[in-house]
Amino acid sequence: MSEPAEASRAITVRFHGALNDFLPAERRDVTFTHVLQGSPSAKDLIESLGPPHPEVDVILVNGVAVNFSHRMEAGMHLIAAPAFHPVEVPEPALRVGPPLPDLPRFVLDVGLGRLAGFLRMLGFDTLWRNDFEDDELARISHDESRVVLTRDLGVLKRSEVVLGYFPRATEPSEQLVEVVRRFALTSRMHPFSRCIPCNGPLAIAEPHAVKDQVPEGVAERHTCFQQCPDCRRVFWPGTHHQRMEAIVDALRAREQTSPPRDLAEPTREPEPPAPARPGT
Ligand SMILES: [Zn+2]
Repeated sequence: MSEPAEASRAITVRFHGALNDFLPAERRDVTFTHVLQGSPSAKDLIESLGPPHPEVDVILVNGVAVNFSHRMEAGMHLIAAPAFHPVEVPEPALRVGPPLPDLPRFVLDVGLGRLAGFLRMLGFDTLWRNDFEDDELARISHDESRVVLTRDLGVLKRSEVVLGYFPRATEPSEQLVEVVRRFALTSRMHPFSRCIPCNGPLAIAEPHAVKDQVPEGVAERHTCFQQCPDCRRVFWPGTHHQRMEAIVDALRAREQTSPPRDLAEPTREPEPPAPARPGT
């Protein structure tokens, strides 16, 4: 292709906020030129440049809000922004990002087992197995309207995925801070209402009903027990419980000092407890 012809296929692109995390350094937070191949949809163009579509909330082409299927042509200027990013959207606002579910439910990739434990600790319905296949994750996310959390961009870019997020941090407690912020979870937490090993909803259990399932002395010292109806594990407040409460308190304190933004600045948290063995 000759140089003038290439120039005639050029568009300009600008990504905002956390979408820059998916770009090479020289394209972050600047308007850059891109030469179109054909007339891709806005969605295909954005994904070919890096960001997965579930993280995109607003697309503007030449200042007009468009949807994912908008065809890109030479000379256009595209702006893409993530949720919670203060980009001016002309009225009527057309957001490509779906509204947040009232009570988000999650399905997590195999590598995020400890994050799954944390989300269950906060009471969120969280599916996780150490053998989920990519297509299974995408199908469950789509069929059950669950937010898929994965550090595999290939999963997030599958067309059936609508709700999804790529945790930037690799440390589980930092991933938790990101996810709580991204999905505005602080006010929706119900800590210690769900079984961390299996995701079952915990029920109150009478001491006499569980005394054969707890270590000697525990049934006498405690009056407050919970049991998982699915795996039958028994839980009671212990030192482990106190460490988890400290994590919950830290998340609530953080919410008061910093409103939701498009991406958490990863801050180092104290080392989290390993998600749950019964009762410890
Ligand atoms: Zn259970």
